[in-house]
Formats: sequence, C-alpha cells, structure tokens
Amino acid sequence: MTAPIDGSKFLDPRVAAFVSGRHAMLIGGQWLPAASGRTLDVLDPSSGKVIGAVPAGEAADVDLAVKVARKAFSGPWSSMVPAERAKLIWRLADLIEQHGDMLGPVNSYECGKPIGDSRNGEVPFTAETFRYYAGWATKLNGESMTINAPGDWHAYTRREPVGVVGQIIPWNFPLAMLAWKVAPALATGCTIVLKPAEQTPIGALYFGKLVEEAGFPEGVVNIVTGFGEAAGAAMSGHPDIDKIAFTGSTEVGKMIARAATGNLKKVSLELGGKAPTIVLADADVEMAVAGASSAAFFNAGQSCGAGTRFFVHRKIYDKVMAGVAERAEKLRLGPGLDPASELGPVVSQQQMERITRLICEGKSSGAEIVTGGGRAGDTGYFVKPTIISNTTRDMSVIREEIFGPVACAMPFDDEDLDALARDANDTEYGLAASIWTNNLGAAHRLAAKIKSGTVWINCHNFNDVTMPFGGFKQSGWGRELGAQALDLYTQTKTVAIRLP
Ligand code: NDP
Repeated sequence: MTAPIDGSKFLDPRVAAFVSGRHAMLIGGQWLPAASGRTLDVLDPSSGKVIGAVPAGEAADVDLAVKVARKAFSGPWSSMVPAERAKLIWRLADLIEQHGDMLGPVNSYECGKPIGDSRNGEVPFTAETFRYYAGWATKLNGESMTINAPGDWHAYTRREPVGVVGQIIPWNFPLAMLAWKVAPALATGCTIVLKPAEQTPIGALYFGKLVEEAGFPEGVVNIVTGFGEAAGAAMSGHPDIDKIAFTGSTEVGKMIARAATGNLKKVSLELGGKAPTIVLADADVEMAVAGASSAAFFNAGQSCGAGTRFFVHRKIYDKVMAGVAERAEKLRLGPGLDPASELGPVVSQQQMERITRLICEGKSSGAEIVTGGGRAGDTGYFVKPTIISNTTRDMSVIREEIFGPVACAMPFDDEDLDALARDANDTEYGLAASIWTNNLGAAHRLAAKIKSGTVWINCHNFNDVTMPFGGFKQSGWGRELGAQALDLYTQTKTVAIRLP
C-alpha cells in the first residue's frame, strides 16, 4: 500500500474540458439549466476538489421531463416498430464503445475507481448491456391460450410497455447501473426520466449526448441531475410516472416504496447487501484467497454484492487470513485516473466517515483489526483495505452494510451445512453469497439453503448481462438483467374474443 498521490496529472485535456464545462440537463431533446438556476458541485474523491458543476434539478424540472416523456411515449416512440427501436439501441451501444476513451476516464474521475476497471470493465459491460436488450426489442411476444369455457374463443396476451419510467441510480457503477435500467426500458418501448447520483452526474450527461447522436426521438430519454431529496423524491411521488426503478440504500428504497403509493406506480428496488464468502475446508486456498480479497476490495468495497462476511473453515483459516492480509497490504492505493492504482478512494467524505465510524465501533466493541483499520493519508477519501476478526453477531460491522473495503472474518469448525447457512443467512439482507469448495454436492446443497438472489460458487461479483440479479429479503424487489428485467418494464394485457 503506498500513499495516495495527486491524480490530475493523468487527466486527458479533453476529459478535463468536458468535466469542467458548462453542463445542462437533457429534457425533451433540449439541454436546459435547472428552472431554479441552481447547480450542484461535483468533486474528485481522490483530492476532495471541485471538478465541475451540474444543474440541481428539482420538482419543476422533473415535471417538465415527465411531460415530454409522456408525449414521446404516446407519440413517435410507441409507434416505432420494434426493429427500428432495436437499431437505435444497437447504435447507442456502438457509440458507447466508440466513446470509451471519454466515458471511462470521466467515470473514474467522478467516482474514483481505477481506470482499468472503468475503461476495460464497466464501459464494455455498459455497451454489451445495450446490445443484449437491443436483441430483446424484437422478441417481446405474448401467448395464446386454450380456453376451458364452452363455445368458440380466441384469447391471447400482449406485452405492453409500462409507460413513463423514473430511474434513480447510485454512484458505485454509474454507467453499468444506468445501462441495467435504461436498456431494458428502451427495448420494451418505455420512455425515461433518469436521475443519476449527485456524485456522478457528468458521465450520465455524456451518455445523454450519445443518446442524441444515436437519433432517439426527443423525450425518450431525459436526464435530470439533482439531489435525491429534491429531484429523486419528486420522481417517486410523481402522479404521472408509471414506474420507479431504484438502486441504492435500503433506507431510501423504503422511502421510495412509500412515496409510490400515491398513484400505485410499480417499483423495483436493488438495495443493500451483506454477502457471506464461505470457504469450506477442501477449497483451493490460493483461489479462495484471491476470490475473498476481490470480493471485499473490488471497487473499494462499494458494491452491493461485496463479500463482507468471511466464514472460513478453521483448518485453513490462518492460511486464508494471512493470504488476504498480504494482498490487502500490497494493494496500491491511488486516484482512479492513475493507471497504477489498484484501489481508488471511496466516493465521498460522507462515505469515508461512515466506513471509518463503523470500523471504530467494531474496535470499541472488542473486534480486532487484522490489517488496515482506518483512513489512508489525509488527502481525498481513501480507506485502507481492512480485515476485522473476533466479531460477534450483534456488532454494527456485522449487521450494517459498510460499503467500503472492509470485511469481517469468522472461523467455523463443523461443516454442518444447516448451521453454516443459518449463520450466513443471519442478516436482514439477501443479495448475494459465494461458496468456495471443490465438493460439488456441498456447493449445491449449500447454494439451495442460502437466502439470497445470487449464489456464486468459486467466484464472486460475477455478473453477466444474461443472469438475473436482485435481492431476497430487504435487498430489494424484482430482478435486473437477463430476460427477467423485461418484466419490470412491461405489463400483460389479456385479449379474449368470442368468435362469431
Ligand atoms: P442513497 O440510497 O441515498 O442514493 C442512491 C440514489 O437515491 C441517489 O441517486 C440519491 O440521490 C437518491 N436518493 C436519495 N434520497 C432520495 C429520496 N428521498 N428519494 C428519491 N431518491 C433519493 O445512497 P447513498 O449514496 O446515500 O449511500 C448510502 C448507503 O447506501 C451506502 O453506504 C450503501 O450502504 C448504500 N448504497 C447501496 C447501493 C447499491 O448498489 N445497492 C449503491 C449506493 C449506495 P443523491 O445522489 O442526491 O443522494
């Protein structure tokens, strides 16, 4: 681990010019300031310095965006044949790929993640997500039913778009989260009002330029930048938004669900997690060490699927702990834009303070720090990769989603799968889990007992656009990605005909 250094020297002048330029929101094909004229500052988390400003949209801006989205929904977009929609979505994917040299660095500059993860990971995944759903646009078929009632009947279903959808996204994977929501909504024929996170709005506005260049009709994709309490809340309660898709904290997810009751808009939620990383006695230790480290530290632990509770068989516990600690100590901390950085800062001072507070609470309630244990340096928002041991089930480090490069490790003696599953499931969350073993039977049996939306075996944080992702328990409602995401943006209409 080396001390963070200033990342601005890695900044491409084109990226710097775009980020610091004058930004406007995309509403109905127009680039507009907030009606109030207010703006919000965007910071570089590796230095804490202001790097740009975007409009601080509020209820009036959301209202306008909903009006134009409604007009586009009942106008050119819904009358466009699916094959034409598919072509536009595919073109957008091509543009995302072609603009990777801008989107990647803008993304890393705003949210702090290592440039390789942006440029070679998130940007291609974003493009691939649009391509995948471009394919689905032409395959949204209904069914016909064989009717039980006497007489001659023909009955069939149609899959119709839900309508105007509000999409509220977080800052941890700003481009991927945008794609997971916007791509299936476009494929199904919905129109969109998107609110990016206050920390990472500039990449979303760059994406807006690509939407324009791809040739989407005005009002199909609208981007309102602004604070959650203003723009986000206005969307959740808006009487003319038909559906809200949200990724973020469980707390805000509940607020959104409550606000949505006004017009009973549909709601899908991808919320917090506290994933167990379970290492059985027969696991390949080297593989488990690499996997557990990546589960905890990838994206500085700012991933809802992050593996934050290690359950390791005592036979290999010391070896695994030593391996993970060694990897943690070797990780090179630095600004996302520095190609040598392996671990970036966390996104904001607020997140850094929350993470370090939870580490301190763990320490003061008797947990031990194996490695790391607090802030790194005094510039920017860097947190040392941290492993905590000697925890008990009631500690806040065990119960709360930390959302930083921090994991708690617990040994176990008995490979009783029911007991292991009980401990792994001892959380209000149920998003993801990983199991490390060469015993196929144990892997599948344990996978069936784990209460989470995804179980990874001998891998962690593996997401593919074809695989549904979402949570059990308080980790959310609905599944994104794969064919299941199409259900979030369509509704079924049944048509029954008495044949004359
Ligand atoms: P939030 O849930 O507050 O933010 C996520 C999104 O919701 C942002 O766009 C935010 O806007 C918006 N939002 C905030 N308040 C409201 C509201 N009242 N109505 C509608 N939208 C709103 O998460 P934070 O960024 O505050 O992070 C806090 C914690 O949430 C993290 O520590 C982590 O535990 C969890 N989290 C989970 C994520 C996941 O992937 N499941 C992603 C991010 C966070 P704004 O940007 O202005 O706050």
